[in-house]
Amino acid sequence: MKITYSIVVPIFNEIDNLPELYRRVKEVLDSTGQPWELILVDDGSTDGSTERIHQLADEDPTVRPVIFARNFGHQIAVTAGLDYSRGAAVVIIDADLQDPPEVILELAKKWQEGFEVVYAVRAEREGESWFKLFTASLFYRLIYRITDVKIPLDTGDFRLIDRSVVSVINNMREKHRFLRGMGAWVGFKQIGVNYKRAARLSGETKYPFNKMLKLALNAITGFSYFPLQVATYFGFISAGIAILAIPLVIIERLTGSQAFYGQATTLIAVLFLGGVQLISLGVLGEYIGRIYDEVKGRPLYIVREAPKKDE
Ligand code: UDP
Ligand code: MG
Repeated sequence: MKITYSIVVPIFNEIDNLPELYRRVKEVLDSTGQPWELILVDDGSTDGSTERIHQLADEDPTVRPVIFARNFGHQIAVTAGLDYSRGAAVVIIDADLQDPPEVILELAKKWQEGFEVVYAVRAEREGESWFKLFTASLFYRLIYRITDVKIPLDTGDFRLIDRSVVSVINNMREKHRFLRGMGAWVGFKQIGVNYKRAARLSGETKYPFNKMLKLALNAITGFSYFPLQVATYFGFISAGIAILAIPLVIIERLTGSQAFYGQATTLIAVLFLGGVQLISLGVLGEYIGRIYDEVKGRPLYIVREAPKKDE
């Protein structure tokens, strides 16, 4: 039987959320009347979630467990879920029920209208600390400004992705993964659906500050050269000041001013040389960026439709 919907859930110590997650997902997906599967990716849980997942799978064959040997992180867990999914549409959703499974029906509606990526936008958020809200908001806006792809604001990994797009993403094997960026980078017909992000059902966030920072770094370094180019900007500023200062100091001297007596030449030399060095570093950065691009091995282009090769 061909599966229509694959629901992919990354799980890291979510034992108390699992029964309710399963119940609500099942209720929603059964109501579609379509065949579906629930892929539970256990990202090295230590609280008994693994056994709970096995138990669910034993009772219901629509549950397909993928159990990691240790904690590899949320983005990798989702990647594994995408790898093992078989549905015509794949939905990524958190285990803590912050993303209400009922929203999947709205995502599916847009998919049936022909959209290939339907991402859920957090129009409102409940039950999160001001620190989390503030850092998350800063994160989305910073990424939006710095990176080269326009990643929709206030959008997490909760989304529905068509099989054609999943295949493309599955072929991008870069190690430091930022799936939202990859999802935006590939193109295709995309649309957002607003939803209200609920509070966590049970347990604590598994995204402490250091993991968020790592995710932000992956986002910035994965989708822009900006950090490599910073040196160049400083270099031009520093060398520019030196070049402007040279005639100024000469004029000052010729008119008999003692303002820069003694130190002016040294200062200008330091500024100028420093600038040249920074620019050279930036040039190196540019090449490293290009090597990095090659190493990532992303496809050169992605086609939605093309003539068959053997015709
Ligand atoms: N998660 C995971 N591995 C990790 C951290 C988190 O699989 O190393 C899962 C977690 O179980 C949850 C989802 O990723 O299903 C999102 O995590 P969380 O709800 O803690 O993030 P937040 O909503 O606080 O940003
Ligand atoms: Mg959460």
